[in-house]
Amino acid sequence: MGTAVTTKNPAADLPYPEDAPASQALFDRAQAIVPGGVNSPVRAFRAVGGTPRFMASGSGPWLTDVDGRRYVDLVCSWGPLIHGHAHPEIIDAVQRAAALGTSFGTPTTGEVELAEEIVRRTSIDEVRLVNSGTEATMTAIRLARGFTGRSKIVKFAGCYHGHVDALLAAAGSGVATLGLPDSPGVTGAAASETIVLPYNDVAAVEAAFAADGDQIAAIITEAAPGNMGVVTPRDGFNSTLAEIAHRHGALLVVDEVMTGFRVSAGGWAGLHPVAADLFTFGKVMGGGLPAAAFGGRREIMSRLAPAGPVYQAGTLSGNPLACAAGLTSLRLADETTYKRLDDLAATISSLCADALAAEGVPHRLQSAGNMFSIFFTDAEVVDYDSAKTQNAAAFKAFFHTMLANGVYLPPSAFESWFVSTAIDDAALNVIAAAAPLAARAAAGANLE
Ligand code: PLP
Repeated sequence: MGTAVTTKNPAADLPYPEDAPASQALFDRAQAIVPGGVNSPVRAFRAVGGTPRFMASGSGPWLTDVDGRRYVDLVCSWGPLIHGHAHPEIIDAVQRAAALGTSFGTPTTGEVELAEEIVRRTSIDEVRLVNSGTEATMTAIRLARGFTGRSKIVKFAGCYHGHVDALLAAAGSGVATLGLPDSPGVTGAAASETIVLPYNDVAAVEAAFAADGDQIAAIITEAAPGNMGVVTPRDGFNSTLAEIAHRHGALLVVDEVMTGFRVSAGGWAGLHPVAADLFTFGKVMGGGLPAAAFGGRREIMSRLAPAGPVYQAGTLSGNPLACAAGLTSLRLADETTYKRLDDLAATISSLCADALAAEGVPHRLQSAGNMFSIFFTDAEVVDYDSAKTQNAAAFKAFFHTMLANGVYLPPSAFESWFVSTAIDDAALNVIAAAAPLAARAAAGANLE
């Protein structure tokens, strides 16, 4: 048994009421034995202060925390839950799969069906299933290096591709939220192979290739970045990356872990086709269970073990429960689903932006399909530097007032907001009532 650790309540210095005693009690227990009290940094409230809410259940658009408070969920497990919580068909599919056995360590029907569904929706020839987006990007990079025989990688500041050593440089998401420098533990050797460039900056990409073109294995980019808040690629940016990479014998890896099967049936590339060599997927394709994938041209994918020499493996890859949840989630996602997600995103984002405008709070609403975020700045946000011009105090005040009034937003200004088709009129009414109060609080914080 470890000795009890007394932890300071991070909310103590904040003007927000700490009225989540059951969450606080669990957080205290967790902080004694789990670093920072959470199993993924983005779940902590470090950027906004206060106690992370421990959730007891989810149903449709609602989350219920262990104190019995209900929230409209605009995080959706950081993207996967396009159909909302505990969708009956997904739950049924998982229960039926579980009754047949949880893991076999052999190929199964579900893996073939999920792979076929992914290939059908995208431009890729072959796909390999893994457990997380991090694994997908890590292996895509290894495969790009194995295929080209080159070592350097180009990535963009503010893009997050999971916690792969070589890709943590100037990363978005939790790294941006916590304002961390590049992570200790990443060796100089791993970091030195990564060239970090400003997002949306074609001239910088041309210059990097002019300098190092024969050593660059791949460019990796988020299809449309959501991990520094939503930053829309300039018209033709991804296609220009493909053209530059190919001109120099390098590959383009488009990371659709967040956008894939969320912004359209075929992801961001379904809306804006791009001649990428490899794509990565995750989140929605797992339906709320751990599943992710990478895929691309057959010529490249056939270099992967056991067909080829580039090694990759996974005890639980293509897990039957995850495949059942993912396949059901994808099969439920038809054109009506995407239209509804788009409409809901437009309604909710305007509700919040209009409320902020009415209070005179400087802000910019940015979207990529049905992913959106509100930046608390009046600067144009085109890259990581401009994303960092945000007024943190205004976001904190907005976030906490939304939370206190029943709306769960990402606890960071550097994240996308996510909608689900389950959002109904009751949920919209809660958002509509909360937004003006939150905007007023943000206006107050802005003056301080
Ligand atoms: N790539 C992108 C674009 C992501 O948004 C994420 C996670 O948010 C990842 C990769 C990593 O995925 P995972 O958290 O499943 O490892």
